[in-house]
Amino acid sequence: MSRAAFDALLVAARALVAARPVLAGFAPWPAAPAWADLPPVALPAGSLVGDWPAEGDGPEADLHRAIRQAAPFAAWTRTYTEAEVGARFLENYGYFELVGPTGHYRCPDLRAYVAYWGAGLDYGWHSHEAEEVYFVVSGHGLFRSEGEEDALLGRGGARIHRANQRHALGMVRGPILTLVLWRGPGLGGRAEIQGG
Ligand code: ZN
Repeated sequence: MSRAAFDALLVAARALVAARPVLAGFAPWPAAPAWADLPPVALPAGSLVGDWPAEGDGPEADLHRAIRQAAPFAAWTRTYTEAEVGARFLENYGYFELVGPTGHYRCPDLRAYVAYWGAGLDYGWHSHEAEEVYFVVSGHGLFRSEGEEDALLGRGGARIHRANQRHALGMVRGPILTLVLWRGPGLGGRAEIQGG
């Protein structure tokens, strides 16, 4: 059951990446990444995503539907502590590594995360060495990046962050479901909250 849901999710992610140049041009998508059979890890984010119906058609909507199907079987993760982000944040955010060095499917040089933040959360300024592209699958987010204009992005919107470029994300218009790709040095690192 979980394998079938994940294989369908991998197909949907690959199709979206192929259809959107900002994703296809960011990093080569692995042809046949090995299934890692990770045990599920439940977090509130999994239920919140599972309760969020996908709207519309197209590869973003297809991916949203596939994420919902796989959500109960995903190894949901949180990297922050309550001291860093607060209890409400922890109860309304989560992600899982679909593809990557430690993901549900293994690939040494690309990370593809499915990440969710609930309505009203403010994901404060943070940075990491790996280069990143955020792609909005559903919902909206106010993307803020050091040296760039703020942008309220919805479905199909994308934001690239350079290595160590500080950025923040505000869920000012409801929740957001994203596909996040990482590449380059620092792939094994994590984002560090910096405040301010
Ligand atoms: Zn980031």
